[in-house]
Amino acid sequence: MFKPLNINKNEENKAVEATEVEKVKCLIVGSGPAGYTAAIYAARANLSPVMYEGLQPGGQLTTTTEVENYPGYPEGVTGPVMMEDLKKQAERFGTDVRWGMATKVDFSGDVHKVWIDDTKIVEAETVIIATGATAKYLGLEDETKYAGGGVSACATCDGFFYKGKDVAVVGGGDTATEEAMYLAGLCKKVYLIVRRDELRASKVMADRTANTANIEILWKHQTKGLFGDGVVEGAILVKNLGEEGEEEVKIEIDGFFLGIGHKPNSDIFAEYIDTDDVGYIQTTPGTSKTKVSGVFACGDVQDDQYRQAVTAAGSGCMAAIDAERYLSEKNA
Ligand code: NDP
Repeated sequence: MFKPLNINKNEENKAVEATEVEKVKCLIVGSGPAGYTAAIYAARANLSPVMYEGLQPGGQLTTTTEVENYPGYPEGVTGPVMMEDLKKQAERFGTDVRWGMATKVDFSGDVHKVWIDDTKIVEAETVIIATGATAKYLGLEDETKYAGGGVSACATCDGFFYKGKDVAVVGGGDTATEEAMYLAGLCKKVYLIVRRDELRASKVMADRTANTANIEILWKHQTKGLFGDGVVEGAILVKNLGEEGEEEVKIEIDGFFLGIGHKPNSDIFAEYIDTDDVGYIQTTPGTSKTKVSGVFACGDVQDDQYRQAVTAAGSGCMAAIDAERYLSEKNA
């Protein structure tokens, strides 16, 4: 099945030796709910899918604790367990799930080439991109220290655990204001920590935020650190006083939410398929089709609106069906 291949170049133009070539019908890149659902459908449609899991097998959900809003789990389920279940289901129908990272692609020909770990090339008739998005963090040491102990980048996932408590959201865009609005419906008080003196969010979201009684906007504040005994009990902020310098402010909170944006993991595909300014892959509305025939995208890498496990799973199903139809028409 494998044969030696010539030298190729990676992004830094360094010579990299690709040692193997493998031909597959359906390659799935990424292993969150979108990728696994695509795998379940593709495997059951006899596409013999091969999946490369990427850097974070299971995707973003493996970084959350309890998932309570995915249908079918009345008692809730932890993110890692749910991803293991999805993986087992994909493997049960014959998906070949492998460790490895797609590092480069060439979608210029009829057969789509995907480099794995810069060494192996998979030549795929169809490619399903399910590489997800990565929430941005501020880069504070305390974000790591309190991971799973009060720091979250997903209000819809984790907000429920802060019912009746005080929390803070960082950011001034649509993500942050949506998170703040969602949390305001659950929590006693929500601080919105905004680094400038205006919001970047759309006017409607800015107005809603300003008119919500239990949201307090902390203008011109930046986060210096978090404190608490094992879990978050508060944040230390720095307020910009302009010419008068700055002032340190402490707030007492149980939850610290990041809302400073997500970065879709689409960089390696951007040369061949359309992405928006932020990097979200553009698909034909109502489908998973990218502008390259035989290449489909699903999940958070193409969704700047919903970003939920269940919507990602739904779009993974669409991608597998689109891939199956593409192959049937091509081989008819
Ligand atoms: P944005 O880039 O629009 O906003 C990011 C916000 O985070 C800005 O207020 C920015 O501040 C702030 N920020 C960034 N880095 C830092 C930092 N290091 N410290 C403090 N604050 C920081 O990202 P969003 O995720 O909010 O939105 C991305 C896109 O998705 C937008 O086009 C948005 O409209 C869209 N979206 C749409 C939704 C909807 O329609 N339902 C929901 C969510 C997003 P500053 O303004 O100073 O740069």
